Amino acid sequence: MSKNLRTLLSMVLVLILAAACGSAPPPDASATASAPPPASTAPEQAGLPTIVVLATGGTIAGAAASDVQAGYTSGQVGVDQLLAAVPQAKKLANLRGEQVANIGSQDMNDAVWLKLARRINEIVAMPDVAGVVITHGTDTIEETAYFLNLVVKTKKPVVLTAAMRPSTALSADGPLNFYNAVAVAANKEAAERGVLVVVNDWIHGASSLTKASTTAVQTFLSPLRGLIGTVAYGEAEFYRGPVGRNTMTSEFSLDKVTTLPRVDIIMAHENMDGAIIDAAVAAGAKGLVIAGVGNGNMTESAVKALAAQAKKGIVCVRSSRVATGRVGRNVELDDDKLMFIASYDLNPQKSRVLLRLALTATTDLKTIQRYFDEY
Ligand code: ASP
Repeated sequence: MSKNLRTLLSMVLVLILAAACGSAPPPDASATASAPPPASTAPEQAGLPTIVVLATGGTIAGAAASDVQAGYTSGQVGVDQLLAAVPQAKKLANLRGEQVANIGSQDMNDAVWLKLARRINEIVAMPDVAGVVITHGTDTIEETAYFLNLVVKTKKPVVLTAAMRPSTALSADGPLNFYNAVAVAANKEAAERGVLVVVNDWIHGASSLTKASTTAVQTFLSPLRGLIGTVAYGEAEFYRGPVGRNTMTSEFSLDKVTTLPRVDIIMAHENMDGAIIDAAVAAGAKGLVIAGVGNGNMTESAVKALAAQAKKGIVCVRSSRVATGRVGRNVELDDDKLMFIASYDLNPQKSRVLLRLALTATTDLKTIQRYFDEY
């Protein structure tokens, strides 16, 4: 055998061995039989924290035919491609990816919520995992973040991120958002701050953020309760903790929950009557959230219809269609007499999340009003 042939054969052997080692993920001693380790596992570097990335779709995983067109499809890129697109993040943490769903978040639904929340609870129980990053669409990220904030049980960082521009766009915002989200999840200072959302250099608390622009990259604001911090190229600065009970201090749990009760949001407007309120109850709503005008107001006929439903046991929350400000109790309407709940700081979409979880535990109005005060 010539020297060249021997060298070639030994190189082939080395390549075969390397491929075999690479395809066998390192054993995860902490994972239990009922909680399998995340599916896509790259070789891990000693000394770096381990962050699990759960992908659900959205524009961050979206693709368009050209880099300068408005039209695109959400949820086209898988978690492995997403991780591969930001190799810089591998210097911050060992990343393990898992695809939970691949949908536009306008299609977010209870099945994905329950699956996601349960999987996060399994993953954060693994001692070798330092934190979790969830990639999501921007349309309903505030609802998913708030839901997780109430039902995930951990002190470890749980960080959602998203993008306004698809992965194929000129100046896509997803890669830096993802990098910053990994940096925050890997940062010990992010612990015990509830579920966080990192988009466009800002760190929001799950109970505070809301989508404020249909198309702008700077779409998320945290009115009333304020930002938790900022993050620039992975350097995070924390200003405060989250407002409202969350994660470890939340009294909500999915342990005995298989379905979530129906709660509908109804927007108030000029000349509103009660027909849509009655129709929502006829369709099966156990609770209603009114996105009221001003301080949670609505027409006299809407008040009449709502009060009649409240009397029959439908839990009715007054929130507001206004972008910012609290909805107070007994301001222009007598909530005590009408049996209404005031949403306080929570916008209609977050009020709906809280009311759905509340109704898994109780229909007592005093207790539910307390939830709106404390969460
Ligand atoms: N419709 C998209 C979604 O929510 C928008 C986005 O992600 O920015 O999935």
